[in-house]
Amino acid sequence: MTDDPIQGLRDALQVSPDNVPLRVHLAKTLAGLGRLEEAEQEYRDALSREPQDTAIKLALAGVYRLQQKSSQAMVIVENICRVDNAPPAALVLYARLLLNEGDVRGAVAQYKLALEVDPAAADETLGQELGVSPHAGGDNEENEVFEGRVRQSWQAPSSGFEAELERPKISFADVGGMEALKEEIRLKILYPLQHPEMYAAYGKTIGGGILMYGPPGCGKTWLARATAGEIGAGFISVGISDVLDMWTGQSERNLRDLFQQARANQPCVLFFDEADALGARRSDMNSGSARQLINQFLSEMDGVDHSNEGVLVLAATNAPWHIDPAFRRPGRFDRVLFVPPPDLPGRAEILQLQLRNKPQAAIDYVSLAKRMEGYSGADLKAVVDQAIEGKLREAMKTGQPQPLTNKDLITAAKALRPSTTEWFSTARNYAVYSNQGGLYDDVLKYLKL
Ligand code: ATP
Repeated sequence: MTDDPIQGLRDALQVSPDNVPLRVHLAKTLAGLGRLEEAEQEYRDALSREPQDTAIKLALAGVYRLQQKSSQAMVIVENICRVDNAPPAALVLYARLLLNEGDVRGAVAQYKLALEVDPAAADETLGQELGVSPHAGGDNEENEVFEGRVRQSWQAPSSGFEAELERPKISFADVGGMEALKEEIRLKILYPLQHPEMYAAYGKTIGGGILMYGPPGCGKTWLARATAGEIGAGFISVGISDVLDMWTGQSERNLRDLFQQARANQPCVLFFDEADALGARRSDMNSGSARQLINQFLSEMDGVDHSNEGVLVLAATNAPWHIDPAFRRPGRFDRVLFVPPPDLPGRAEILQLQLRNKPQAAIDYVSLAKRMEGYSGADLKAVVDQAIEGKLREAMKTGQPQPLTNKDLITAAKALRPSTTEWFSTARNYAVYSNQGGLYDDVLKYLKL
């Protein structure tokens, strides 16, 4: 026998693993000691043996909440509270979770319901936070006033994460090449916003986002920004690593705040860069909390609690192979588009755009573009920048500004290598060996494989 009570309980369970009350007792003891992960495991085990047991479900939800796994807790509690005679303890927990999410009104409603069923369920701290006392009647004014005050004082600390809202001045005309991508964006997200009635007439559902992938510097961000500019919408660009936080509960809140900000400023393009970071970070976090963050993202995208009307979601990644397949379901990122390095006409157009309004002699854009196969938009920009620097240096010496020539650009291009090669050597492996459902067909086509 052992002196350790936990070990004693575990030993006993070894002998009779089906003893659910004993397992629940162990889980409760573990939770009391703050050993939440182990408690969760035992509650889940108990639940697999007694799947209908509401008390165990509720206890598991409580442990989830303490672990900051609010979405998981919410799923359980919502299910319990769906029935008419939900236990008051479940309603109180529901109220807590709603308050956490910023839904003060909903929290007050659930808490009042709990008190109606059983005044003894009152939770002093929660009651104070919500401005609801156990003796207050239904909808008296005092409560509403309190509620207003609570709402205000609660909202201030919640908005910890606020992204910058831009009003881009560029439009599709400033994006060289990418014709097929522009058309896809028009059809999928711009037209539905501008002509909802037309889409409704054909029974086409609106929603979902576009995920762009490809080598760095090929204009994913530029195109996203131009999408917003094209229709005069707001633009919020965030790197997923900005949203991620070592404290996962906070990351979920960040995501929620972000979607709220976009909804409040619609029409708005919400652009997620480094979308793969959601998956890539999985190894850093324990997988439960990573999944929870992904779930939060997906439920925001699905518009579960709030309509996403007027919010266009675009995302970009250089590493699509790290993205959770759940992102690609209908209504989410159901269009996954390859953004290749610009083709010949695209390169010529980008060079032309980059040289717009700069002093120049007759430049043969097509012949230049022919020399720059594999160059990304960013590479082309770098070529132009470098050529201009050379010209400036000369002008400083001679005191005479000279126009840019073909030769200047060729010299600059020779000094720079295309930056997309490395990406393709990785992408090639994924495209050849794990081309899930033809996801990378466009990469194969580009590589002529
Ligand atoms: P990353 O994957 O590294 O985030 P990205 O694909 O998002 O790269 P951008 O940041 O959009 O690439 O492109 C870099 C710069 O290159 C842009 O700021 C823009 O100046 C220029 N550029 C890229 N593509 C184009 C294009 N098609 N037309 C005009 N400019 C372009």
